[in-house]
Amino acid sequence: MIFQKSLLQEIGIYQYGLIDTKQIIFSGEVRRLCEGNVCRNYGTTWACPPAIGTFDECKEKSLEYDMALVFNAKYNLEDSFDYEGMLFGHKEFKKVCDNLASLVKEKLTDYLLLSNEGCIRCSNCTYPHYPCRFPEKLFPSVEGFGIRIDALAKSANIKYINGENTVTYFGLLLY
Ligand code: SF4
Repeated sequence: MIFQKSLLQEIGIYQYGLIDTKQIIFSGEVRRLCEGNVCRNYGTTWACPPAIGTFDECKEKSLEYDMALVFNAKYNLEDSFDYEGMLFGHKEFKKVCDNLASLVKEKLTDYLLLSNEGCIRCSNCTYPHYPCRFPEKLFPSVEGFGIRIDALAKSANIKYINGENTVTYFGLLLY
C-alpha cells in the first residue's frame, strides 16, 4: 500500500480498498445516464462528458494504469431529503480529493484521480470557451468515465451505502 491508513483517515477518507484496474466495471449504461443529464452536470464543466472524451477513450485512459485506490467519505444528513446536507457533503468530499492529490504528488509521478460527480471548484466554469483554470486539480467524474461505483465498492470490499440519513461519496485514484 502506498499510503498509511492513518494518513488516509487524517485527510478525511472513511473507507478504502486497493484493486487491480482490470476489476473496474465500465458500463455504457452509466455513461448514457450522464448523457441523459440526470445530474444536470452534462456539458457544464471540464470534468464531465463530453469534455472528458468518449466512453471508449475514458476506458482506455483508465486501463493505462495498473492499480486503483477506491476511497469514500461519509457525511451525516438530517433526513433522506436533506439536500443542503448532501451539497455540504459533496463540497467536503472535494476537499478530501484535494488532500489526496497533495499526498499523491509527493509519491507518484503519474496518476489519475477521479471524483464523484462534476467539478464545483469555480463559481463559473470556463467550459467550453476557455481552458480549465486549475488543470492540476481537475478530477474528472467517475460516473462520466462510465464506471459503476456500486461494483467498485464491492471489489474494494467497502460499503456503497453507509446507513440511514447518510450520504457517501466515492473517488478513484488510478496509478
Ligand atoms: S476547476 Fe474551475 S474551470 Fe476547471 S473544470 Fe472545475 S469549475 Fe471548470
